Amino acid sequence: GDSEADVNIFGSKEMQAKAKAVIETIVERQGSNYQYSECTVNNAATQPAVARDLTTVNTVREVRPFIDWDRIKARATDWETRRWEGLAPIKKDFYIESKATSSLSQMQADLWRKEHFNIICDDLKDGEKRSIPNPTIKFEDAFQNYPELMKYIQKAGFQKPTPIQSQVWPIVLQGIDLVGVSQTGTGKTLSYLLPGLIHINSQPTPREQRNGPGMLVLTPTRELALQVRNECSKYAYKNLKSICIYGGGSRQQQIKDVAKDIDIIIATPGRLHDLQMNNFVNLRSITYLVLDEADKMLDMGFQPQIMKILLDVRPDRQMIMTSATWPDAIRRLSQTYLKEPMI
Ligand code: AMP
Repeated sequence: GDSEADVNIFGSKEMQAKAKAVIETIVERQGSNYQYSECTVNNAATQPAVARDLTTVNTVREVRPFIDWDRIKARATDWETRRWEGLAPIKKDFYIESKATSSLSQMQADLWRKEHFNIICDDLKDGEKRSIPNPTIKFEDAFQNYPELMKYIQKAGFQKPTPIQSQVWPIVLQGIDLVGVSQTGTGKTLSYLLPGLIHINSQPTPREQRNGPGMLVLTPTRELALQVRNECSKYAYKNLKSICIYGGGSRQQQIKDVAKDIDIIIATPGRLHDLQMNNFVNLRSITYLVLDEADKMLDMGFQPQIMKILLDVRPDRQMIMTSATWPDAIRRLSQTYLKEPMI
């Protein structure tokens, strides 16, 4: 059709250039309804790496039928359905609006947003828009039903939620996917972390029967991963256990750590993907997923690893993405991986 898509090409410079040329040829031919294709096959690419003769490029002319994309898509959907069959159900909605929050009028809520960094909210769902929930102005408005969590919040000594926390909690606690555009230092970590603790502790399947972690937070750098872990460890809610996995840390130790009973993984994409490929970590049990500072992860070239990690996480998870900016690449990432999010 006339849709657009990002195409990521991996490999050596030479192979990338070849792949790019092939794709451009296909796109051109599809544009002119070309029915048959000729292809240039680099025999060297299909030879084993050992004794590969990189100078041989043979041109093979063959007639191939047009690719039946509808059939391929149907098979992929079928495979996807079978892959996720038999999973335990997920619960996502844990929000009971407090009297104080529900008593805010639309005008009061709008004024509050204006006076608090001029927060702008939208529903990115197609069709009829849902109404954006009123902000939870006090901690109790969001967590009154979780007294144990409230104790940890009081212990942290904060006076009131930051603006992003007030607006994000009533959305995320309802189980709605979210894109949070905000800078570091605005309290974004707790905006996804605290609802996440409630989410993973309140699933119908008990923690000990889940055979793996319930929450995954992907971060671009080791520093941010450690910072999130540090924040997480201040809220020892229900004794939920977290670990940090990042490149540069001891791989052996991290392999040992993921084998333990853990609830939360905070990781950089490269090292996590390494452990995933080698079957050291089970991602099927994850129901709450965060891409923290997604723009930075894309800038650092982590998109391939993120894509591969997400293939192993159940599609009906709840997902949150934070980003300091909102460029096209981040929009497309959110369209691909988040379901009917609010922003
Ligand atoms: P973040 O934007 O998540 O990196 O958070 C920046 C800092 O703000 C961290 O040190 C948090 O502990 C702190 N913080 C988070 N929430 C609040 C709050 N409600 N009030 C004051 N400080 C907070």
